[in-house]
Amino acid sequence: MRDNFNNEIDIVTVSSSKIDSVDFDNLPFGSIFTDHMFVCDFRDGQWQKPQIKPYEPFMIDPSAKVFHYGQAIFEGMKAYRDEHDDVWLFRPDQNIHRLNKSAARMAMPEIPEEIFMAGLQKLIDLERNWVKKGLGNSLYIRPFMIAIGSGVIAAPSTQYRFMIILSPAKSYYSGEVKVLIADHYSRAANGGIGAAKAAGNYSAQFYPTKLANEKGFQQVIWTDDATHTKLEEAGTMNVFFRINDTLYTAPTSERILDGVTRKSLIAIAKRDGIQVEERSVLVSELVEAAKNGSLKEIFGAGTAAVVNPICGFSYEDVYYEVPKQEHSIALDLKEKLTKIQYRMADDTFGWMVKIEG
Ligand SMILES: *Cc1c(COP(=O)(O)O)cnc(C)c1O
Repeated sequence: MRDNFNNEIDIVTVSSSKIDSVDFDNLPFGSIFTDHMFVCDFRDGQWQKPQIKPYEPFMIDPSAKVFHYGQAIFEGMKAYRDEHDDVWLFRPDQNIHRLNKSAARMAMPEIPEEIFMAGLQKLIDLERNWVKKGLGNSLYIRPFMIAIGSGVIAAPSTQYRFMIILSPAKSYYSGEVKVLIADHYSRAANGGIGAAKAAGNYSAQFYPTKLANEKGFQQVIWTDDATHTKLEEAGTMNVFFRINDTLYTAPTSERILDGVTRKSLIAIAKRDGIQVEERSVLVSELVEAAKNGSLKEIFGAGTAAVVNPICGFSYEDVYYEVPKQEHSIALDLKEKLTKIQYRMADDTFGWMVKIEG
């Protein structure tokens, strides 16, 4: 295996950047992309020479497996610019490991870590002007892999395309989030693909989430598929509950995505003496805690928003409000994590990886 792909990426750059036409003060999340993209194809049993080229649409055969059988996985991560104008990634090792775990589950080929890392380094270095300074500004990174082999035969493809695209982002604030606790639909099941970051997990959520939206809730808190008694994730985020001064979050499993934000918040909480328990929380416990006043906070955790406070939940047509806290552990942890990401606090865990110029 070649040990340094950095020098082996074919690079074709745009003749002029579109950056000056972008209004960085009004960025809709995830719909503007930078000038270039990273592409690496898999065929004949191996990964081909990677390329960086202008961001543009491409052609795939209408019978490509991704369209018919949904072999598609992705990652979500961010790059940040610090006070000294250096650009940093947050725990990219976690993303490549998870991507390859997703790939294995979807019968897709694993990507060599050096292709992934060299692609990120080179592409983000080329696009570093798109990473703006200041808390809240970031570059959202979307690595993904699709099956591009043709043929409507229900078997894994022999050809794949791995790509990285980049989208400038502002801090993501979703407002007050009310959630509905799922009592019928499920996001994931034992033996299923819930632990993979697979595209199909998202499409499966759209309909139940739409039903929840129609009832005035922004998100669904997913429960275990077998009994609907255990709280698992909030929308596409991991979920934490604060009861008195202890944080609870479900252990990762076949049904629960192993979130980088989740594990990082747990690490910071433990470092700072906040009690965290990784165990299943029952819906009945949550309702009880809401009734007796010990429920202090609920929040989602994920790369896009870091922490997304939840202000109330509905279960069996009863709405329970989460009382406003003077001192929010959720917002405290969010600030601590964000400061590490923007290099405003010591990176005591060694999580940050610099983009080399
Ligand atoms: C991506 C994702 C998360 C959050 O993962 P992060 O690595 O923290 O961004 C949580 N749950 C689901 C279902 C996800 O797809």
